[in-house]
Amino acid sequence: MNALVLECLLTCPHCGSVRLETMPTDSCRFFYECSGCKAMLRPKPGDCCVFCSFGSVKCPPMQGQGCCPAQP
Ligand SMILES: [Zn+2]
Repeated sequence: MNALVLECLLTCPHCGSVRLETMPTDSCRFFYECSGCKAMLRPKPGDCCVFCSFGSVKCPPMQGQGCCPAQP
């Protein structure tokens, strides 16, 4: 099994600021407040979390077995 990438460069679509964030391995992150413009980022339609939408890498569940299987 490959090692998961846990560090993600998250780029704000509003102001373009980039932050290095460490992703949790067991959950998805729906909301992220940009440290630059204070915008609350949400995933794009079809994406499970802000890392998949705006990050440099997919979130750990997406790198592995798939994301949020039991999400109601
Ligand atoms: Zn921003």
